[in-house]
Amino acid sequence: MSGPYGTYPEYEAVVVGAGPAGVTCVGNLLERKVAPILWVDDGFDGGRMNRKYREVPSNTKVSLFINFATAVAPFRKIVSGTPSRSRWEEPSDSDGVPVSSDKPDKLQVLRNMDQEKGCELSHAADVILMLTEGLKRTPGVITQKGRVTHGDLDDATEKWTVGIQTENSSETDITTAQAKRLILCTGSSPTDIPLPGNVVNIPHLDLDTTLSPTYLKEKLTPLGPTTVSVIGASHSAILVLRNLYNLARTEKPDLKIRWLTRHALRYAEYMDGWILRDNTGLKGEAAVWAKDNLEPESFKTSDVSNYIDTISYEKGQEREMFEQYLPGSDFVIQAIGYTRDPIPLLKTSAGKDITPYFEHEKGTFKYVQESDCGTIGDLVPLPHVYGAGIAFPERVTDPKGNVELAVGFGKFLKFIKRVSPEWN
Ligand SMILES: Cc1cc2nc3c(=O)[nH]c(=O)nc-3n(C[C@H](O)[C@H](O)[C@H](O)COP(=O)(O)OP(=O)(O)OC[C@H]3O[C@@H](n4cnc5c(N)ncnc54)[C@H](O)[C@@H]3O)c2cc1C
Repeated sequence: MSGPYGTYPEYEAVVVGAGPAGVTCVGNLLERKVAPILWVDDGFDGGRMNRKYREVPSNTKVSLFINFATAVAPFRKIVSGTPSRSRWEEPSDSDGVPVSSDKPDKLQVLRNMDQEKGCELSHAADVILMLTEGLKRTPGVITQKGRVTHGDLDDATEKWTVGIQTENSSETDITTAQAKRLILCTGSSPTDIPLPGNVVNIPHLDLDTTLSPTYLKEKLTPLGPTTVSVIGASHSAILVLRNLYNLARTEKPDLKIRWLTRHALRYAEYMDGWILRDNTGLKGEAAVWAKDNLEPESFKTSDVSNYIDTISYEKGQEREMFEQYLPGSDFVIQAIGYTRDPIPLLKTSAGKDITPYFEHEKGTFKYVQESDCGTIGDLVPLPHVYGAGIAFPERVTDPKGNVELAVGFGKFLKFIKRVSPEWN
């Protein structure tokens, strides 16, 4: 447990998760004087961005990360190094005042880069780590390293009691806490579906891990001739193909890559004031590399074709294609999307399990209320539980009517800024 003012009998909010979404939520709650906040995470080490994506090229501009880091007053204080005032209850002295541009702040590395280009995500991860450290020291924030395992709703008061599993169960650990709000920023992991019987035993490599060229080199270089199959045509799939190709053309020429894809590559398109396929299309370095090397015309003449075999098929043919083309692979990497990580087990006062359904427009949840005699009722609002981040993103519709889930720092921020006033 850490925090300048000890523990509280009741928290205004428990925020679960300290990835980019958790950081965004804590910053926004503090800005609106919603405190004390109990903030819980397994590691307080920047979430997946820092654990897995440090070597990944960003699909957003450098300026976006600066805008993110200066979007709310509690962040700006951390960035500028302004000491926090003595009590969180006191009015802030610099709300809304942007950091003066002539004073060096903690964003100098990003400020010195080309603002219109992307960067390695290590820089974005460092922003999250810097904000995390600053928020941990901000009055009104109490942190507990550990895992929120469950949340029990008191139906009468609509308050939540959470249980927290900590590593060493020290006496000062907070293992149970009561809160008015429960905010889930628990993240997602790569989707990994079972493969057909004849290839069920091929080892899988975790998509997020193979986004690191360093990991791939360490894993594959010591092996003899190796075939890796990559399934999917997502942003992550292209980055992994590029990593594998770079390894094959340099230190591992006996590496062969099979790429199984069921649709043509899709790119984000910059329209007049908005982006078509903003969340699903290829962007940045991944888009450039894919256009130059993987499009049918460029592929023919690209060196990439010496290492990558492309197997294209239609939706619905997956099973037959996997049965035919995966045998002989030493590893399979599935780049077919992300699935929500398990959330804490939620229960009603009567001890009944709650299955929450996320409302992508409002950041709230509904659940099916069960009567005491077991009759299933209608979907009703789940009191004071909110979600954000990659697991609980906003659903957006673009000017052409395409519906997407909005994932990324800037989008989490916009969503949380819009909906969090309702969390009062
Ligand atoms: C390849 C790739 C590239 C991307 N590039 C960009 C980019 O360029 N720009 C951009 O803006 N976005 C990018 N994103 C999207 C997005 O910003 C990241 O996915 C981001 O890491 C998601 O943040 P999050 O906080 O929702 O989840 P996470 O980072 O996964 O954080 C969740 C945290 O919650 C903790 N947690 C979970 N359950 C519990 C529990 N029960 N108790 C306690 N702690 C718990 C986890 O340990 C973790 O620390 C990219 C995503 C991918 C996959």
